[in-house]
Amino acid sequence: MEHKDIDWSNLDFSYRKTNKRYVANYKNGAWDEGALVEDDTITMSECAGVLQYAQTVFEGLKAYTTEDGRIVTFRPDLNAERLEASAKRLEMPVFPKDRFIEAVSEVVSANKEFVPPYGSGATLYIRPYMFGISPVIGVSPAEDYQFRVFSTPVGPYFKGGAKPITIKVSDFDRAAPCGTGNIKAGLNYAMSLHAIVTAHNEGYDENMYLDPGTRTKVEETGGANFLFVTKDNKIVTPKSDSILPSITRRSLVYVAKEYLGLEVTERPVYLSEVGDFAECGLCGTAAVISPVGKIVDHGKEICMASGMEAMGPVTKKLYDTLTGIQMGRIDAPEGWIHEIEC
Ligand SMILES: *Cc1c(COP(=O)(O)O)cnc(C)c1O
Repeated sequence: MEHKDIDWSNLDFSYRKTNKRYVANYKNGAWDEGALVEDDTITMSECAGVLQYAQTVFEGLKAYTTEDGRIVTFRPDLNAERLEASAKRLEMPVFPKDRFIEAVSEVVSANKEFVPPYGSGATLYIRPYMFGISPVIGVSPAEDYQFRVFSTPVGPYFKGGAKPITIKVSDFDRAAPCGTGNIKAGLNYAMSLHAIVTAHNEGYDENMYLDPGTRTKVEETGGANFLFVTKDNKIVTPKSDSILPSITRRSLVYVAKEYLGLEVTERPVYLSEVGDFAECGLCGTAAVISPVGKIVDHGKEICMASGMEAMGPVTKKLYDTLTGIQMGRIDAPEGWIHEIEC
């Protein structure tokens, strides 16, 4: 296959226009049949629901080349289900799961020369999203919606090895109790921008958000779930209704139990016990796991036993196993790898 002339290993995480994107419109209570289009711009009413009241939800997944040269996506059915949950929470119509998976496949296929080669570490990032497009001025759900999928090639998350990061306990909340923390909505990100810019200005890589009700329990970062490893090699992940259910975290939990024979507990995790863990990682599609070396709580440094030089051994094993499954080097559980017919 012809690849685009791109320096894959030096790509960063930024938007780059590709050939085609998918568009479907919801009007008069039904989705039209949808199509791939070349136009990368959107024209809408100045009063569109998305512009006035942020009625928009999204997903993120990637397409990549496996060791044996297949182009695949990872568990797109779970992205479809999560978009459905997000849409329902914001009073938006559901885009059917089979059509979601088909739209993602069509976009990847139409942009296959942008799918990086195996071993480059780069991927084709896929962004499905939906938004209220008809005019809304009195607060209410829009009448009409648009569902789109575009793709953009992105570089390897870790250039030159996964170095542990330093995060701070944020003074801001990312979610409210009984709010929208558990759905993938743009509004959760708009309100996190000030917190992340503040953290970066102070020299931290990320924020650790606490539970908004009591501010004693660990929730997640702006875009990744926590996974902890105890000193006796057990996995602990925070349980909370305001955490976004990461597909990567759910997959890592399965891998820990079924491939590595590790004990996994999902339970509330208190900030006061974080220093007792040996390893800490952040789980999300982009990095799979980024190791956390240090957590700073208002000047008090909590240093993970795994240190600041490399991923801890259990985190590394989880990372190697899941990326091995994704890349086709290790047998995948049924239904995890979705091959794209190009
Ligand atoms: C998308 C997202 C994640 C990671 O989810 P994955 O499905 O693993 O990519 C975690 N937290 C938040 C807030 C997110 O938006």
